[in-house]
This record gives sequence, C-alpha cells and structure tokens, in this order.
Amino acid sequence: MVTKKVYPFEDGNAEMKMLLGGKGANLAEMTRLGLPIPCGFTITTEACRAYYASGCIMPEELLQEIGQALTRIEEAQAAGFGDEQQPLLVSVRSGSVASMPGMMDTILNLGLNDATVLGLAARTGNEAFAYDCYRRFIQMFGDVVLGIDSIHFERLLEQNKRKYARASDQEITAEEFKELISNYKRLVEDRTGQSFPQNVHSQLKLAVEAVFRSWNNVRAKVYRKAYGIPDEQGTAVNIQAMVFGNLGNDSGTGVLFTRNPSTGVKELYGEYLLNAQGEDVVAGVRTPKDIAELHKEQPQVHEHLEELALLLEGHYRDMQDIEFTVEKGVLYLLQTRSGKRTAQASVKIAADLVEEGIIDQKEAIRRIEPAHLDQLLHRSIDYSMSPVPIARGLPASPGAASGRIALDSDTAEHWAKNGGKVILVTAETSLDDIHGIIAAEGVLTSRGGMTSHAAVVTRGMGTPCVCGCETLSINEELRSATIGGLTFQEGEEISLDASLGQVFRGSLSLNEPEITPELLKLLEYADTIRSLQIYSNADTPADAGKAREFGAEGIGLCRTEHMFFAGSRLPIVQAMILADSLEERQLHLDRLLPMQQSDFEAMFQSMDGLPVTIRLLDPPLHEFLPNLEQLKEREQQLALSPGTGEELEQVSNTIKKVYSLREVNPMLGLRGVRLGILYPEIYDMQVEAIFKAAERSLHKGVKVRPEIMIPLVGHPNELKQMRELVDNIAGQVMCGEFKGFSYKVGTMIEVPRAALLADSIAKYADFFSFGTNDLTQMTFGYSRDDAESGFMNTYMEQKVLNDNPFQVLDQDGVGKLIEWAVTQGRAVKPFLKTGICGEHGGERASILFCHEIGLDYVSCSPYRVPFARIAAAQAALNADMNRQRLDAEVV
Ligand code: ADP
Ligand code: MG
Ligand code: MG
Repeated sequence: MVTKKVYPFEDGNAEMKMLLGGKGANLAEMTRLGLPIPCGFTITTEACRAYYASGCIMPEELLQEIGQALTRIEEAQAAGFGDEQQPLLVSVRSGSVASMPGMMDTILNLGLNDATVLGLAARTGNEAFAYDCYRRFIQMFGDVVLGIDSIHFERLLEQNKRKYARASDQEITAEEFKELISNYKRLVEDRTGQSFPQNVHSQLKLAVEAVFRSWNNVRAKVYRKAYGIPDEQGTAVNIQAMVFGNLGNDSGTGVLFTRNPSTGVKELYGEYLLNAQGEDVVAGVRTPKDIAELHKEQPQVHEHLEELALLLEGHYRDMQDIEFTVEKGVLYLLQTRSGKRTAQASVKIAADLVEEGIIDQKEAIRRIEPAHLDQLLHRSIDYSMSPVPIARGLPASPGAASGRIALDSDTAEHWAKNGGKVILVTAETSLDDIHGIIAAEGVLTSRGGMTSHAAVVTRGMGTPCVCGCETLSINEELRSATIGGLTFQEGEEISLDASLGQVFRGSLSLNEPEITPELLKLLEYADTIRSLQIYSNADTPADAGKAREFGAEGIGLCRTEHMFFAGSRLPIVQAMILADSLEERQLHLDRLLPMQQSDFEAMFQSMDGLPVTIRLLDPPLHEFLPNLEQLKEREQQLALSPGTGEELEQVSNTIKKVYSLREVNPMLGLRGVRLGILYPEIYDMQVEAIFKAAERSLHKGVKVRPEIMIPLVGHPNELKQMRELVDNIAGQVMCGEFKGFSYKVGTMIEVPRAALLADSIAKYADFFSFGTNDLTQMTFGYSRDDAESGFMNTYMEQKVLNDNPFQVLDQDGVGKLIEWAVTQGRAVKPFLKTGICGEHGGERASILFCHEIGLDYVSCSPYRVPFARIAAAQAALNADMNRQRLDAEVV
C-alpha cells in the first residue's frame, strides 16, 4: 500500500499532530474552519522517517506528490512556480510534533530567481519590494540550506547601507538591492564553489531536505534528550504560498496572544511591524508597536484580528499564540498554538475559561502544572533586575527569602526578636537549632542533602532552605562566611531563591505568594473532584491554624515530643526521665499534665470539629537528656573546688543515669510503643491530658474528634495493651454527668512487620496511618541521615535508584507493603480509616499512588495543603481516564 506523504491543508486537522506536526495540524484545522490561511500543504513526519530509513535520499514518489500538491497551490493562487510573469513564491517551514527550538529556520520567498524576480516586480509594480524579497531569500537559503552564517550576509547589507547612507532597510532602493544581491551571490559562490541555484524545483528539494536533516542537528538532539522527545519521531515540513507584509505601509506582520501571557488578563496582547516580513518582529531590528496601535492605524484589520482571536480561543478552548501577516490591508493567519504563560497567568486563564463556559472545572484542574502551583504558593525573587547568583546548592525547601546572615541559632533568634530579618547560615542544623530555624526567614547550609535535618524541618515549616551549598565556608573566629568566593561578615545581607537553590548577595525584592481569587476557585473545584481527604501535619496550634486556613480537613499527625522540647518544660521532662522511683516520676508527670492539656485544648480549638490525630511520645528518651559532655565538664570543675560535695554527687549520679539510659542503636531502641509499655505512666499522662482537654473544649462549645495514635507498633500485642491503656483512661475521665465524646485509637504503620500482620493489628485499631518516613527507612534498611550524607548520591547517579525514596514514595516496595496492609486491614474492618503522614503526603506522584490504592487521606505540611488538594483532584481525574481507557479496551 502506498501511503500518502503529502497532505494539502484541506485534508488535515488538529488531531493529526503526530503525522503533520503541531504547526501543520493547526494550519489544516484553521483551513477547515474557513479562516484566511495562505494555501499550502504538509509533508508528513512519516516522510521524514522514510527519508532517514532510505539513507537520506529523496524518493521520486515524494517529489511527485510534492509536485501535485504544488499544482493545487498554483491553481488557487493563479500563479506558477517558476513562472516568469506570475511567479508563485512559497515558504518552507519545519514543524515537529512537539514545539522544538533548534530545528531549521523558516525559508521565505522560495521560488525567486533572476527571472521570476522581474515578474514579481512587474506584477506588484514595486521593484524595491521584489528585490527585497530576493535578497531575503538568498540570505535565508544561504544560511539554513547552504550553511553560510547569516552574519556574512548581514555584513554585506551593512556595507551597502553605509555606502548609500541608508539609516533603515526601508530606504534602500531597487538599484541598491540589485547591487547587494550580486554581492550575496558572489558570497555564495566563494563559500560553496557553486552559483546560487536558479532552478526553483531544486531550490524546493534542497530546502525540504534541509528541514529533514535539521531534525538531527546537534541543537535539536540536545533539546530532544532534555525533554524526552523520541529521536525517531521525525519532523514535518510545511510548504505554503507567501503573503507579503513588506508591500508598503498598509502591510505588516506580527504576533498576538489572545490573553496577556504574564497576567492572564483577557486582552489582546502582542506586537506588530508595518512593512515587514517574517521574523522582523522578533529579530529586534526595528522596535515593534503594541497591538493596540493597530486599532488606530488599521481599525478594520484590528477588528478582524479580535474576531479571529475570539474564534480560535473558543475553538481550541485555550489561550492562543497567533502569528499573522497583513498584505495590503488583508489579514492572514500563519500559525496558532496554545500560548506559553506564567504561573499566575495559567491559573487565572484556567479559572476564567471556566467562568466563560469555555472549559469545565475538570479540564481546568487537569491543566494545572505542578511546577506552576509550586511557584505560586511560595515567595519568589523578583528577577526584573536580572540578579546574578553567587552560589548554588540544593533546592531543599522552596520559596525565597532575604535577610542578614546569622551564623548560629541564638544569634538568629536574638536578631529576629529585635525585628530583624535573618538568614541562618551554618554548616548543618540539628535538633538544637529549632529556635534559630523558626526565627529565620531562610536557611543556608553547606552540608546535607534534600532530606537532611534542615531540609525536613524547613519544608515542614514552609521556610525556604538551600542545603549542601558546597562553596559556603564559615569562619567562626572572624564571624564571617565565604559564599561562592565572596566573604560576608555576620550581619551582612544575602538573598535565597530556594526554589532554584541559588544564593544572591544583598537584599533582593521578593514577590509575595498569593492565593488569588482565581486560585481559590480552582481549589474549590478540586475539592469537588477529589475523593482523597487532605489532612495536615501540625505540632502547634499556630500550624494547625495555618493548615485550616489552607483547607486541611484534619490533623493527620501531631507530634507530642515537640511539646516536650518547649523551653521551660525541658527541665521538668528531664527530671521526669531521671526520676529514681515511680512516685517521683509521677510527681513530674503531674506537673507536665496541665501543660500538655492546654496544648491539646488549643489544637482542638483551632480544628473545631475536625479530626486531630495525636501521636503519643515517640523518640528515644535520651534525646531529652542533658548533654553528657557538659555534665562531665561540670563534674571536673566541682571535683577541683572544695566544699561542693553534694552537688558533685548529684552530677555524678546524673552522669551514671545518662549512661544507663544510653543505647547502642537508639533509633531501634526504646522508642514509641516500647516506651509506653515500659513506662505506661507517661502515656497515661498524655492520654489523660488529651481527654481532659477534649472535655474542657466540649464545655466551651468546641467540637472535638481526638484520634490517638500509637507509634512504632510491630506486634499486635503491643497495640492491644496500649488500647486497653487508652480505654481505661477514657473510662476514668468520662464519668458522671458528662456524656463523653467519641474517640479513635489507631496506630502508625511504620515497621514492616506491622504492615505484614495488618489483619491482626487491625483488630485493635480504628485507623492506620502510614508513617512513610520510618517505613521507608526500615523497608530499605537505610538510616535516612546516613543515606543522605553518604551513598544516596552515588545510588542516584548510577541509577541504582531512580528517585530518592525519602522524597518520592517507593511504590514497588514500600507501596506494596502499604497496599497489602490496607487490604488486610479492611478485610478485618471494612471501614478502617487509612492515610499517610510522611513527607510523601505532599509529593505529587505519591499522592497519585495513595489515591490509586484507595487511602482515605494524605497528611502533609500546612503549606503543601493547597498543592495536595489539586494533586488529589488530578489523581481522581487520572484514575477516571484510565478506567475509561480500560473499559474501551474491554469493549
Ligand atoms: P517558527 O517555527 O520559528 O515560528 P514559522 O514557520 O512560524 O517559524 O515562520 C516564521 C515566520 O515566517 C512566521 O511567523 C511568518 O511571519 C513568516 N512566514 C512563514 N510562512 C509565511 C508565508 N507563507 N507568508 C508570509 N510569511 C510567512
Ligand atoms: Mg512561528
Ligand atoms: Mg516514625
């Protein structure tokens, strides 16, 4: 079967992008719509593939097909290709499937030679115009087909203009163009050893081949690799009758966006040039005019453009980027495509198109690009002054910040308290730096990766952070930091673009993130589409308030240890841990109880009526203990000074206790539920505080839905025992006239054994919350910190792993455990509530996965909630589409 390799525009449509390329398919579509498109045809991508398959020979049949298609243009235009009286001129335009810079440039005015140029001059009565076209043609053909750099032609043009004292191209006369053309021809002969081709058919053949070959030029290959465009796709070629924007001041050429591509406002936005051709507008030779001017100069053309813009937008149901040419007051369209736009514009346009009834809500959600959303939900650097970064690091927590360098957390906190804006600049951060990170506008570290302490903590707080900035070094003595070769004193200003991982000197101005009314609308649409619920991780009432403001439907993880660390409480917590007897410990617990209770009351207040999942104490106790080194120093001091016997004994005692609580491998030691089993009085206190807080809140008219989460369960008996503990306390608190409230007890699934035995565990659980951070650590057997600072980079480089499993949920392994646990758990309890609360809860691919396996919710940091709401809606739409595809296949 002979397949057709050439499609007249009338025979194609917008659906045929794979065969006709983007430009060709849209030219065909517009032709079908009856729009003013110069007559033409498209040589298919298939022809390009065949050309390569045959070893780069133009097949005779293809040339014949091209000839036939040309005849149609000749008839339509009442002109002949190569005809000396009525010459037909065409453009040769490349057109790949995906828009691809780096492909061959367009050749205009093909079909001109020494004879036809006379015909063109005679027919138009404009000799200067005809020779202008001819010299443009020789230059473009010389450049893209014969490989003679444009600069050589430009030089000759400049010489010529200087010789005749011409300020602009428009002033050049026909005679001067003729002289220029003979210089151009000489240049071609010098460079190629052959004269400029006069046969119009060989001009065309050479041009088409040049487009085919440009598919494999270096620029195009690099671009394809970067954007994952398949090498074997090939490019189409469009051949189209010329229309002339350079026929005088009633002619011109321009580009037009149907809406403002940077703001999204519905207004014609674009530029044009009178008496110009092709790319003059973008070439920057002359300053183009604002499209609004056209309204004055050629009102009927402007009106026609407006009409066509509206029509095309309605037809393609999206903002269009249109190229047009006006020939003697008559408008022609030469291209349309969906216009590139900023994040802000993309959201506004999507929301507006829904309002205008052009697309539905689902379509609007489908179109939101995650990268755009990311950008909108964070502050960003104002790049209008083109600042140059001085150093780079990892974009650990997105956003932008500027402020004074503070080299330690105490300084950061101190300056911030006095109203200063600070950037915490350190080698790396630890638990002791929380106050500094909270105080800082942004964090910059020299060590650590995307899941280092600084990265994890800042992401949770929505603070911009650049990690692993290798050119940063800190001089503690001089209180200075060297960043990318520049030395700053502490207190000097820098700025961070943490979305890109860049550091700048000085304080740059920032754009505020904005939940615009349009974004708000899209979020509302998303809420009606998604089935996954979006919870948030929040340890403080302030975080909970933020979460709620961003649309969280509950707290998926409230980590109580953060409440233990809080300033004045730490000494009591330490005393409680170091207590010699149960009685003594109880004493300290009694002091902690009202503090915890007030924390929980505040949380319930913030979340009024929404579920609040509270995880009982998890980290190893020694994390709260006093610093051993400091204790030893103190012991030595005391030993040297007489009369301090009592204190010395105390200190020595403490040291002994700290030693006795030490573990070889604390992360796998006395943590989570194990703590609850060994020291039930601690969990007793926490649960009592939760229930008392719930009771108090109810009295105040606040609705409460406490969900108590037991961490690190690996054996059903552990949960069984803890459930008894909770129910027991509940019984004690809820007695008398008080009617009580309902609560849930569940567990975090973060040990593989718990996932494997999910059915037995589900017997004692009302919900499962997958703690995917720990579950990932334990499933891989990686310690996250060590992996990050150690082998993870090599693993990624050598493609042992495709993604960092601490960032993107490992669906094959960890995901399989989750899926299994959900199925097993629901087999025992059909209405078992399930969700994830690791950092993955705010990551797009992980959210799609959670939807697919039917979890009830994902829980992420407050600042990720809007992102998660949209991602969850996209997940639902994706699943719909996949289902439809499967159904279609079955039929
Ligand atoms: P690109 O892919 O770089 O946009 P195009 O193939 O769209 O290249 O061509 C660039 C410009 O050349 C067009 O915007 C238009 O101004 C001009 N052009 C292309 N074909 C024609 C034609 N047949 N008549 C007049 N101008 C044309
Ligand atoms: Mg174009
Ligand atoms: Mg955990």
